[in-house]
Amino acid sequence: MRSAKPASRPPRLDPDEVARAWAAQLAAERPGLIPFVLDRLAETNGRPVWERRLDPTSELVLTILSQNSADTNAEAAFAALRAAYPSAPAEGTAPAGATAPKELRAFPGWGGRGLPDLLPPDWPAVDAAPLAELIDVIRPGGLAPQKAPRIQASLRALLANGDSYSLEFLAAKEPLEARDWLSAIPGIGKKTASVVLLFSFGLPLMPVDRHVHRVSQRIGLIPPKADADGAHDLYLAMLAPGQMYETHVSLITHGRRTCHAQRPDCEHCPLAPRCRYFDPKAE
Ligand code: SF4
Repeated sequence: MRSAKPASRPPRLDPDEVARAWAAQLAAERPGLIPFVLDRLAETNGRPVWERRLDPTSELVLTILSQNSADTNAEAAFAALRAAYPSAPAEGTAPAGATAPKELRAFPGWGGRGLPDLLPPDWPAVDAAPLAELIDVIRPGGLAPQKAPRIQASLRALLANGDSYSLEFLAAKEPLEARDWLSAIPGIGKKTASVVLLFSFGLPLMPVDRHVHRVSQRIGLIPPKADADGAHDLYLAMLAPGQMYETHVSLITHGRRTCHAQRPDCEHCPLAPRCRYFDPKAE
């Protein structure tokens, strides 16, 4: 009796080639779609202009705190970190708290209220904290038992790389090399790495969170079955480097204000004429 022939596996597709093919197809079949989306959203919400919102290590920790949590909860956990592990002010400056700004600084595309411009937490103290204590401190952010080890693993990876907790060295790397470096840390994926590198350094990377993913699929900017992880690389092929920040912030803002997960407000949406969710035949 002849043995059954083993089923042959389909050839593994190169993600870069897939992304380039999709970008070419979109440009050919729906020309001008990306500028249309960006221009219409700019008319409604303003055109976002990049500026650094936090030092890169704070950005990384805040982004970890926001994983699968509401941004307001991430802010509460970050404020708790600052309070539990305060940094000493530089010599000759006022003691911490004496000149603490009360005003919150809003962050573009962010769903929280913003944070006051204060010193970052004392990273060596956060790194050295007993895990159970750190979990308690960041508990207001949610999923603290998962996030506390991620934060300490990240701080330790930074220290192992040099002699400080600074992430500034990543600015000199190629964007994908920097993304690979950060995503090698346990618990840091493409999205977290891309957020940190885009917001801290303006590196041309496109973070795809659940809002960006949902809006992109509805309009038809990405294929219907593309997952969020794969969409990161699709966007790198679709956008010019200078469009990444604007596209990320504009789509996330649109997802929060108009294109809600439940009951999107298509009637008042400036993108409706070219949205495949609104009109499956839209061009
Ligand atoms: S038309 Fe509706 S589904 Fe399409 S982007 Fe606008 S709100 Fe979202």
